[in-house]
Amino acid sequence: MLTQVCGRSDLNLTNLRIWNKDAIAKNYWDVENKVDKLWIRWIHTYYIKGEQGDNIQVPKQACWMIRKILEARTVITQFSTINPEKSVIRQLYNNMLQGKPKVPWKCLMYMNAARPKSKFTTWIQLHGKMLTTDRLSKWGLNVEKTCCLCQLQEESREHLFVQCTYVRRLWDRILRWMSRPMYNAITWEQHLQWTINNGKGNSKEAQVFKMMYAEITYGIWNERNRRTFETRRQQWETIAKEIIYLVV
Ligand SMILES: [Zn+2]
Repeated sequence: MLTQVCGRSDLNLTNLRIWNKDAIAKNYWDVENKVDKLWIRWIHTYYIKGEQGDNIQVPKQACWMIRKILEARTVITQFSTINPEKSVIRQLYNNMLQGKPKVPWKCLMYMNAARPKSKFTTWIQLHGKMLTTDRLSKWGLNVEKTCCLCQLQEESREHLFVQCTYVRRLWDRILRWMSRPMYNAITWEQHLQWTINNGKGNSKEAQVFKMMYAEITYGIWNERNRRTFETRRQQWETIAKEIIYLVV
Protein backbone atom coordinates (compact mmCIF):
# COMPACT_ATOMS: atom_id res chain seq x y z
CA MET A 1 0.00 0.00 0.00
CA LEU A 2 2.80 2.39 0.89
CA THR A 3 4.37 2.14 -2.51
CA GLN A 4 1.02 2.74 -4.21
CA VAL A 5 0.21 5.97 -2.43
CA CYS A 6 3.67 7.44 -2.10
CA GLY A 7 4.33 9.71 -5.09
CA ARG A 8 7.58 11.08 -3.74
CA SER A 9 9.39 10.39 -0.50
CA ASP A 10 6.69 12.22 1.43
CA LEU A 11 7.35 10.84 4.90
CA ASN A 12 11.07 10.62 4.36
CA LEU A 13 10.12 7.27 2.87
CA THR A 14 11.77 6.03 -0.26
CA ASN A 15 9.32 5.18 -3.02
CA LEU A 16 10.06 1.46 -3.07
CA ARG A 17 8.38 0.81 -6.39
CA ILE A 18 10.70 3.25 -8.15
CA TRP A 19 13.70 2.18 -6.07
CA ASN A 20 13.18 -1.48 -7.00
CA LYS A 21 12.94 -0.56 -10.66
CA ASP A 22 16.17 1.38 -10.39
CA ALA A 23 17.89 -1.46 -8.53
CA ILE A 24 17.11 -3.77 -11.47
CA ALA A 25 18.27 -1.07 -13.91
CA LYS A 26 21.52 -0.85 -11.94
CA ASN A 27 22.06 -4.54 -12.73
CA TYR A 28 21.68 -3.75 -16.42
CA TRP A 29 24.10 -0.82 -16.03
CA ASP A 30 26.60 -3.30 -14.54
CA VAL A 31 26.03 -5.57 -17.53
CA GLU A 32 26.55 -2.73 -20.00
CA ASN A 33 29.69 -1.59 -18.27
CA LYS A 34 30.96 -5.17 -18.17
CA VAL A 35 31.70 -5.19 -14.49
CA ASP A 36 33.97 -8.18 -14.08
CA LYS A 37 31.61 -10.62 -12.43
CA LEU A 38 30.94 -14.15 -13.46
CA TRP A 39 27.17 -13.71 -13.92
CA ILE A 40 27.72 -10.69 -16.17
CA ARG A 41 30.18 -12.56 -18.38
CA TRP A 42 27.62 -15.34 -18.53
CA ILE A 43 24.85 -12.95 -19.69
CA HIS A 44 27.13 -11.51 -22.37
CA THR A 45 28.03 -14.96 -23.64
CA TYR A 46 24.52 -16.43 -23.74
CA TYR A 47 22.16 -13.46 -24.27
CA ILE A 48 23.84 -10.24 -25.40
CA LYS A 49 26.27 -11.79 -27.88
CA GLY A 50 27.96 -8.51 -28.80
CA GLU A 51 24.72 -6.56 -29.44
CA GLN A 52 23.97 -3.16 -27.90
CA GLY A 53 20.93 -1.21 -26.61
CA ASP A 54 17.69 -1.89 -28.51
CA ASN A 55 19.36 -4.54 -30.65
CA ILE A 56 19.60 -6.85 -27.67
CA GLN A 57 16.89 -9.47 -27.89
CA VAL A 58 15.11 -10.38 -24.67
CA PRO A 59 14.80 -14.17 -24.98
CA LYS A 60 11.42 -15.56 -23.97
CA GLN A 61 12.99 -18.72 -22.63
CA ALA A 62 15.28 -16.81 -20.25
CA CYS A 63 14.42 -16.82 -16.57
CA TRP A 64 12.37 -13.99 -15.07
CA MET A 65 15.37 -12.26 -13.52
CA ILE A 66 17.37 -12.16 -16.76
CA ARG A 67 14.39 -10.83 -18.69
CA LYS A 68 13.82 -8.10 -16.08
CA ILE A 69 17.47 -7.04 -16.20
CA LEU A 70 17.56 -6.89 -19.99
CA GLU A 71 14.21 -5.06 -20.17
CA ALA A 72 15.59 -2.48 -17.74
CA ARG A 73 17.93 -1.18 -20.47
CA THR A 74 15.17 1.29 -21.38
CA VAL A 75 15.65 2.92 -17.96
CA ILE A 76 19.39 3.29 -18.47
CA THR A 77 19.11 4.66 -22.00
CA GLN A 78 16.99 7.59 -20.68
CA PHE A 79 20.04 9.00 -18.93
CA SER A 80 23.09 10.14 -20.85
CA THR A 81 25.33 10.78 -17.86
CA ILE A 82 25.72 8.39 -14.97
CA ASN A 83 28.65 9.04 -12.67
CA PRO A 84 30.19 5.66 -11.82
CA GLU A 85 31.87 7.21 -8.76
CA LYS A 86 28.49 7.78 -7.10
CA SER A 87 25.57 5.49 -6.27
CA VAL A 88 24.06 4.54 -9.63
CA ILE A 89 20.72 3.59 -8.05
CA ARG A 90 20.50 6.94 -6.24
CA GLN A 91 21.19 8.83 -9.50
CA LEU A 92 18.50 6.87 -11.35
CA TYR A 93 16.07 7.31 -8.46
CA ASN A 94 16.55 11.07 -8.25
CA ASN A 95 16.14 11.39 -12.02
CA MET A 96 12.93 9.38 -12.02
CA LEU A 97 11.50 11.43 -9.16
CA GLN A 98 11.99 14.70 -11.03
CA GLY A 99 8.80 14.11 -12.99
CA LYS A 100 6.75 13.39 -9.89
CA PRO A 101 4.79 16.26 -8.36
CA LYS A 102 5.93 17.43 -4.94
CA VAL A 103 3.26 17.52 -2.29
CA PRO A 104 2.75 20.98 -0.73
CA TRP A 105 2.42 19.50 2.77
CA LYS A 106 5.82 17.83 2.94
CA CYS A 107 6.88 20.32 5.66
CA LEU A 108 4.21 18.87 7.96
CA MET A 109 5.79 15.43 7.90
CA TYR A 110 9.46 16.44 7.94
CA MET A 111 11.07 16.25 11.42
CA ASN A 112 7.70 15.86 13.06
CA ALA A 113 8.10 14.68 16.68
CA ALA A 114 4.62 13.15 16.93
CA ARG A 115 4.14 9.44 17.61
CA PRO A 116 4.66 7.20 14.55
CA LYS A 117 1.01 6.08 14.54
CA SER A 118 -0.09 9.73 14.57
CA LYS A 119 2.26 10.63 11.71
CA PHE A 120 1.10 7.65 9.71
CA THR A 121 -2.58 8.57 10.21
CA THR A 122 -1.77 12.14 9.15
CA TRP A 123 0.08 10.92 6.09
CA ILE A 124 -2.94 8.86 5.02
CA GLN A 125 -5.23 11.82 5.72
CA LEU A 126 -3.14 14.27 3.68
CA HIS A 127 -3.01 11.82 0.81
CA GLY A 128 -6.83 11.63 0.85
CA LYS A 129 -6.78 7.88 1.41
CA MET A 130 -8.74 7.61 4.66
CA LEU A 131 -11.66 5.22 4.55
CA THR A 132 -14.28 7.79 5.42
CA THR A 133 -17.87 6.69 4.85
CA ASP A 134 -18.34 8.89 1.76
CA ARG A 135 -15.57 6.92 0.04
CA LEU A 136 -16.86 3.57 1.30
CA SER A 137 -20.36 4.29 0.01
CA LYS A 138 -18.97 5.31 -3.40
CA TRP A 139 -17.45 1.84 -3.55
CA GLY A 140 -20.94 0.39 -3.04
CA LEU A 141 -20.66 -0.49 0.64
CA ASN A 142 -23.76 -0.06 2.75
CA VAL A 143 -22.50 2.10 5.62
CA GLU A 144 -24.01 4.65 7.98
CA LYS A 145 -22.97 7.91 6.34
CA THR A 146 -23.77 10.34 9.15
CA CYS A 147 -20.77 11.66 11.08
CA CYS A 148 -20.62 9.82 14.39
CA LEU A 149 -18.99 12.76 16.17
CA CYS A 150 -21.70 15.37 15.59
CA GLN A 151 -24.56 13.37 14.00
CA LEU A 152 -25.29 16.43 11.85
CA GLN A 153 -23.72 15.88 8.43
CA GLU A 154 -22.33 13.12 6.26
CA GLU A 155 -18.81 11.99 7.01
CA SER A 156 -16.05 12.97 4.59
CA ARG A 157 -12.47 14.08 5.09
CA GLU A 158 -13.55 17.70 4.73
CA HIS A 159 -16.36 17.34 7.24
CA LEU A 160 -14.52 15.18 9.76
CA PHE A 161 -11.34 17.23 9.94
CA VAL A 162 -12.51 20.72 9.02
CA GLN A 163 -16.23 21.36 9.50
CA CYS A 164 -17.40 19.03 12.27
CA THR A 165 -18.55 20.98 15.36
CA TYR A 166 -16.97 18.37 17.68
CA VAL A 167 -13.60 18.82 15.94
CA ARG A 168 -13.81 22.60 15.86
CA ARG A 169 -14.34 22.67 19.62
CA LEU A 170 -11.33 20.44 20.03
CA TRP A 171 -9.21 22.71 17.83
CA ASP A 172 -10.44 25.86 19.58
CA ARG A 173 -9.45 24.45 22.96
CA ILE A 174 -5.98 23.52 21.76
CA LEU A 175 -5.39 26.78 19.89
CA ARG A 176 -6.36 28.70 23.03
CA TRP A 177 -3.82 26.68 24.93
CA MET A 178 -1.20 27.49 22.26
CA SER A 179 -2.19 31.19 22.32
CA ARG A 180 -2.88 31.07 18.60
CA PRO A 181 -5.69 32.80 16.65
CA MET A 182 -8.92 30.86 16.30
CA TYR A 183 -9.46 28.54 13.43
CA ASN A 184 -11.91 29.52 10.69
CA ALA A 185 -11.27 27.32 7.64
CA ILE A 186 -14.39 26.04 5.89
CA THR A 187 -13.03 23.95 3.03
CA TRP A 188 -10.32 21.29 3.02
CA GLU A 189 -8.13 23.51 0.82
CA GLN A 190 -8.37 26.42 3.28
CA HIS A 191 -7.64 24.04 6.15
CA LEU A 192 -4.61 22.59 4.39
CA GLN A 193 -3.19 26.01 3.55
CA TRP A 194 -3.71 27.17 7.14
CA THR A 195 -1.97 24.04 8.39
CA ILE A 196 1.00 24.47 6.03
CA ASN A 197 1.34 28.15 6.96
CA ASN A 198 1.51 27.23 10.64
CA GLY A 199 3.71 24.16 10.27
CA LYS A 200 6.42 25.34 7.87
CA GLY A 201 9.82 26.59 8.97
CA ASN A 202 12.17 25.65 11.76
CA SER A 203 10.73 27.76 14.57
CA LYS A 204 9.78 26.15 17.85
CA GLU A 205 6.17 27.21 17.21
CA ALA A 206 6.09 25.41 13.84
CA GLN A 207 7.60 22.26 15.39
CA VAL A 208 4.98 22.21 18.14
CA PHE A 209 2.19 22.99 15.68
CA LYS A 210 2.92 20.13 13.29
CA MET A 211 3.33 17.70 16.15
CA MET A 212 0.01 18.92 17.52
CA TYR A 213 -1.60 18.59 14.09
CA ALA A 214 -0.57 14.94 13.79
CA GLU A 215 -1.77 14.13 17.33
CA ILE A 216 -5.10 15.87 16.72
CA THR A 217 -5.58 14.03 13.43
CA TYR A 218 -4.91 10.74 15.17
CA GLY A 219 -7.15 11.71 18.11
CA ILE A 220 -10.08 12.53 15.82
CA TRP A 221 -9.69 9.40 13.69
CA ASN A 222 -9.26 7.22 16.77
CA GLU A 223 -12.39 8.64 18.37
CA ARG A 224 -14.31 8.17 15.13
CA ASN A 225 -13.21 4.50 15.02
CA ARG A 226 -13.97 3.99 18.69
CA ARG A 227 -17.54 5.22 18.18
CA THR A 228 -17.98 3.26 14.95
CA PHE A 229 -16.55 -0.08 16.00
CA GLU A 230 -16.65 -0.18 19.81
CA THR A 231 -19.62 2.09 20.60
CA ARG A 232 -17.50 3.79 23.25
CA ARG A 233 -17.09 7.55 23.24
CA GLN A 234 -14.98 10.31 24.72
CA GLN A 235 -15.79 13.98 24.97
CA TRP A 236 -13.65 16.42 23.00
CA GLU A 237 -12.45 17.98 26.28
CA THR A 238 -10.87 14.67 27.31
CA ILE A 239 -9.15 14.22 23.95
CA ALA A 240 -7.85 17.81 24.05
CA LYS A 241 -6.35 17.21 27.52
CA GLU A 242 -4.69 13.98 26.37
CA ILE A 243 -3.19 15.70 23.32
CA ILE A 244 -1.87 18.65 25.34
CA TYR A 245 -0.35 16.19 27.83
CA LEU A 246 1.38 14.34 24.95
CA VAL A 247 2.85 17.47 23.40
CA VAL A 248 3.99 19.23 26.59
ZN1 LIG B 1 -19.33 15.73 12.44
